[in-house]
Amino acid sequence: MRSTLKCSVCKQSFDRNTIVQYTPIFNKIAKNYCPDCLKLRQEQDRFAMTVCKIFQLEFPTPRIWKNRSDLQKKYGYTDKVITDCLEYLYFVEKKTVLSESLTLVTPTTVDAMIRYKNRQQVQGQSIARSTTTSYTKKIVNMEAEKPQKVQDFNPDHWLGGE
Ligand SMILES: [Zn+2]
Repeated sequence: MRSTLKCSVCKQSFDRNTIVQYTPIFNKIAKNYCPDCLKLRQEQDRFAMTVCKIFQLEFPTPRIWKNRSDLQKKYGYTDKVITDCLEYLYFVEKKTVLSESLTLVTPTTVDAMIRYKNRQQVQGQSIARSTTTSYTKKIVNMEAEKPQKVQDFNPDHWLGGE
């Protein structure tokens, strides 16, 4: 038995203990993923699930995938940033769904989402699922910001009960 396996995405060889079998959503067949490719794929899946939930879709529409790639190209946003921003807009700010698009994801709303998450951390509350959040932008001058009242917010609701 070979001691290495190839990642099905980046095609590099890895120690077989490093490779994880994962079935992406909307797929039926599990594939081999290296840790980096797995993380990206899972973030993309979380994006897709969140979009389906917000817009009540079975699959993200081509327009949404196009919006996503525009945001990635224009601002360098990862799936995680886009998903966190969508969750912030629709589950925290409770924006009304006007159209099946990502047009509300902008530098302004992404900043608002990051400030919101930082406030949550300052208040010692757990945020979403991931504790390893790292954004390219740093929020400076957090101290100057007055703490705002945080509405009843249960992070478990962000992704829906499982
Ligand atoms: Zn890989």
